[in-house]
Amino acid sequence: MIEDNFWPFLANVAYGVTSGLDVQTSSTDIFAYQDMVEAGRMIGMRAWSTGPGVFSDTAIKSKEDAVKVMKRYKDHYRTKNIKAYITGNRKRRQQIVQAAKEVGIMPTTEGGLDMKLDLTHMIDGFAGNEHNIPIIPLYRDVQQLAAQTGIGYTPTLLVTYGGPFGENYFFTNSNPHDDVKVNHFMPHNVVDARTKRAQWFRDEEYAFTRIADSAIDIQRAGGKVGVGSHGQFQGLAYHWEMWMLGSGKATPMETLKAATIDGAHIIGHEQEVGSIEPGKFADLVVLNSDPRADLKNTADIHRVMVNGRLYNDDTLDEEWPRQKALPSLWFQDTGPK
Ligand SMILES: [Zn+2]
Repeated sequence: MIEDNFWPFLANVAYGVTSGLDVQTSSTDIFAYQDMVEAGRMIGMRAWSTGPGVFSDTAIKSKEDAVKVMKRYKDHYRTKNIKAYITGNRKRRQQIVQAAKEVGIMPTTEGGLDMKLDLTHMIDGFAGNEHNIPIIPLYRDVQQLAAQTGIGYTPTLLVTYGGPFGENYFFTNSNPHDDVKVNHFMPHNVVDARTKRAQWFRDEEYAFTRIADSAIDIQRAGGKVGVGSHGQFQGLAYHWEMWMLGSGKATPMETLKAATIDGAHIIGHEQEVGSIEPGKFADLVVLNSDPRADLKNTADIHRVMVNGRLYNDDTLDEEWPRQKALPSLWFQDTGPK
C-alpha cells in the first residue's frame, strides 16, 4: 500500500536531508513515492533511486543484454542510476559498465569487503562504489586510483567494513530512543527495534575514524567522497555519518563538501542540488549554530526549505509561503513509548 506522508521521507527532511539516492531499493514502491513528492502531493526529499538492484539473476549474458536492462531502467523506471551487484565475473561487470555508458545511466556498485573487487570497480569505470574499502590505511597508489578514475566513494561508516559498525557508537553513546524529534517522525516499534539492543565496543576498537581519514586522503587527492547513511536510522543517522567522516583529520568544510556538492556529483545531480546557485532547486538547511566551528552543529537545525517551501523542522508544518500544518501521522499519539 502506498501511504500518504511516508515517514522515512519526512524524517529525512526534518533532519535536513533534502536529496538522496537510494542505491538499491527492495521494491518499486519508491517510484510511486518519488512521483507523489514531485507532484507536490506529499512532503519529501528528492528521492532518487536505482530501483531494485541488478544481480546475477538478471541473467545478463552479453553487452547487448546489459543494454536492454539499462534501457528498461532508464525508460521505464526513469532512473539515472543503477546498482549492479554480484552480477557475475569481471567481464560481465565490464559489459554492464559499457552498456551503462552507451545508454547514459550511472552504474554504482559495492565491493562486499573485497579490496580487489573495489579496485577493479575503479579501473573498470563504475560511477560509484558504496561501502568502505576494508583495508586501512590507503596509500597514495589507491588514493590516486580513486581520484583519477573519478569513482564516487561513499564509505557508509555506520555499517563499517573491517571494524565494528559505527552506528553502535551512537546507539551506545547517545539516546535516540527518547529523542522527541526522532519519535515524532519514526514509528516507535522501529525506534525500539533499532535502539533497545546494540553492541558495545571500547572506543579504540572502532575503525571509522581511520577509514574516514583514508577517505579524506582520496578527497584531498581530488577524488569524490560522499556521505551515505545506508538507511540505518532515517534522518538522524545522516548526521552520525557526517560526524564519523569528520571525526579524524577532516576539516568541517571537507565533510560538508562531501555531504553536499560532492555527493550531488556522485549521484549525477550536481546541476540541480548540492550548492546554492541560481538555477538549482531552492533546498536549504538553516542552522542555529555554525557547523564550521563544530560539526555536531549540523543537527542544530532551525528551519528546512525544500523546493522553496520553508518548514519547521520539528513538525514539518509549512511556514512559508503557505501556513499549512502537516497532518498527524498514523503512529503519533499512540500512548506510552
Ligand atoms: Zn521504546
